Amino acid sequence: MPRRRQPEAAARIPVTASCAGCDATWTDPATAHCRSCHQSWPSVEGFDEHLVECPARPVIAARRARRDSEPSGAGVA
Ligand SMILES: [Zn+2]
Ligand SMILES: [Zn+2]
Repeated sequence: MPRRRQPEAAARIPVTASCAGCDATWTDPATAHCRSCHQSWPSVEGFDEHLVECPARPVIAARRARRDSEPSGAGVA
């Protein structure tokens, strides 16, 4: 009786993700890493809240409203 290989073990190859800005690495795909202040969260939900109050202010969270045309003394009385 030949030994069976475990297909699950072969299919689940751990993917190591890393940050280009620090030495952090993680294998859990659910892990969220802030590329601005370099903290890690076990889930995206916590990370989502962090983005709002991240001290490093990540660019992806910045939503600036462009003001190209400001009224300059148009209706000055
Ligand atoms: Zn952050
Ligand atoms: Zn990092």
